[in-house]
Formats: sequence, structure tokens, C-alpha cells
Amino acid sequence: MIILDGKKTSSDIKVEIAESVKQLKIQGKKTPHLAAILVGTDGASMTYVTSKVKACELVGFNSTLIELPEETSEEKLLNEIEKLNNNNDIDGFIVQLPLPKHIDEQKVVEAVNPTKDVDGFHPTNVGRMALDLPCFLPATPYGILELLERYQVETQGKHVVVIGRSHIVGRPMSILMSQKRKAGDATVTIAHSRTKNLKELTLQADIIVAALGIPEFLTGDMVKQGVTIIDVGITRVGDATKKSGYRLAGDVHFESVSPKSAFITPVPGGVGPMTIAMLLKNTLLACELKV
Ligand code: NAD
Repeated sequence: MIILDGKKTSSDIKVEIAESVKQLKIQGKKTPHLAAILVGTDGASMTYVTSKVKACELVGFNSTLIELPEETSEEKLLNEIEKLNNNNDIDGFIVQLPLPKHIDEQKVVEAVNPTKDVDGFHPTNVGRMALDLPCFLPATPYGILELLERYQVETQGKHVVVIGRSHIVGRPMSILMSQKRKAGDATVTIAHSRTKNLKELTLQADIIVAALGIPEFLTGDMVKQGVTIIDVGITRVGDATKKSGYRLAGDVHFESVSPKSAFITPVPGGVGPMTIAMLLKNTLLACELKV
């Protein structure tokens, strides 16, 4: 069993990005600048945004964090987005999701200029992705592709079962892995909450991408020997032995699944850190495309 080490791989990617930034600076070119908008004080969202800002500093990017109160109106948020769209120094920006209930998330996603949409959530980027055209790939699926590629996990002709059909993970993952590309060329089944006999499908899978958000859902009896497991899930589960009062759990029951796996991502330290690295990669690309 080989651990797909997202922590190490993302560090390697950050070193590569830092080197590119150094070169840009030597050549007198623009320093990449990522902005993030955070609405409210949701604990997990604050942690994610802080990690993203820290990662920017690490690779030599400029970063701007815009923190807005929970009660911010949709109009005010859309105004902030427009300011970032028009700010030439900002190469890319993200609006941390989820947003408070009174804000229409889709409206917000569509307000971001697709050329600055480094999360890859805008319909233009999603459409371009589906058509195999140059675009910003959504960071989590992009990170998974990169991890599979760097560990040379064979995907061509393999049966991939993606569990979950969300717009940010499951759906794009299923599209990307079915495409003619590196870490692609697979035969993909996408499963969701209405799928019947999921176990019959997962038992046939060469690769399983678990992205449903139910802690330790996928157990050893649901997978075949030699399977590759990508665990996207991150859920805070109460744990009195931890100082924080919780631990992070994936969607995979690691103890029973890992002995049967050829490759497996841990949680934490698997897909999570890769997501941040690929957001930086998209921002670097956005900056390079501008000049
Ligand atoms: P979501 O909640 O938007 O969607 C969950 C999907 O799982 C739905 O499509 C649903 O149909 C499916 N599902 C629910 N119950 C199911 C069941 N019993 N059987 C089969 N399918 C079922 O999820 P999301 O936003 O894609 O997130 C999924 C998980 O991944 C969450 O734990 C989230 O925190 C995590 N996540 C991690 C990263 C990362 O960087 N590592 C990024 C995004 C999301």
C-alpha cells in the first residue's frame, strides 16, 4: 500500500511555484496577487481562508483578505466582487463558500470575471472544462489529477467510481477522468444519494473517489483488492481526546480499506493540501496569462 502524500506533493508544487515567482520578479514582471472574500465567521471557512493566505505568503504571492460580516447583503458582496473584477493588480480571487443563506451563491459565482475565477466555478470555466478547452480547473479535482499523475497511478481504461455529484468535486472529477488527458482516459461511473446497490459498483472499481461528506462511509468490505482510493471528505467529528474537541475524518474507513489498497490518500494530509496548491497554480496561470 502506497500513501498518496498530498502534504509532501503540495510542498513540492509550492516550491515549483515559488521558483516561478522568483523568476517573474527577476524579470521585473508582476507578482501574482490572490484575493479572498470571507463572509461570516464559520470556523472551517476561516481555517481554509487562513491557510490559503498563508500559502500565498509562502510562495511569494501578494494576498488580500476581505472579511465581511455575516449580515452582509448580497448587493454589498456583489459590489466587492465588481471592485476585484476591476482591480488590475488582482490576478485572481475566490469567494469562500458556503455563503450565508440570504445570499444567492449562484449569483455570486456568476459575478466573478471568468478570467479571475481561480476556483474554476464560473459557468464559463465549467463549460470550457467540459469541452476540454484551456480554463481554470476547479482546485480539488485538479489536485487529485496532479496527485494521480505524480504518483504515476495508471488510469487509462480503468473503472473509476466517483461517489458524489457536487459541482465542485464529484461532477468535475467524473468529467475530467473520462477525458483524453493525463490521469484520464478512464471509464467513469458517478454515484450519488439515489444510487442503488452502491457496493456492487464500488466492488468493481479500480479507483474510487469518495466525495460525499459522510465520515468513514466507505468500508473495507466495499472495495476490491488493489484498489486506488482518493478520499476527498473532510468532516469535523467530535473527539474529547483532542484539544480542539474534534478530529478530521475522511469519507473512507482507513483502517479497513487501506490494507486492500494499492494507493490511498490519508485524511488529513491527502487531497486537502493539494487543493490549496492548485489554487496557487491557477493564480500563477492567471497572472501569466495577463502579460
Ligand atoms: P456535497 O455535500 O455538495 O455533495 C455530496 C454528494 O454526495 C451529493 O452529490 C450526494 O448525492 C452524494 N451522497 C450523499 N449521500 C450519499 C450516499 N449515501 N451514497 C452516495 N452518494 C451520496 O459535497 P462536496 O461539497 O462535494 O463535499 C464532499 C466532501 O468533501 C465533504 O466532506 C467536504 O468537506 C469535502 N471537501 C473537501 C475538499 C478538499 O479540499 N479536500 C474540497 C471540497 C470538499
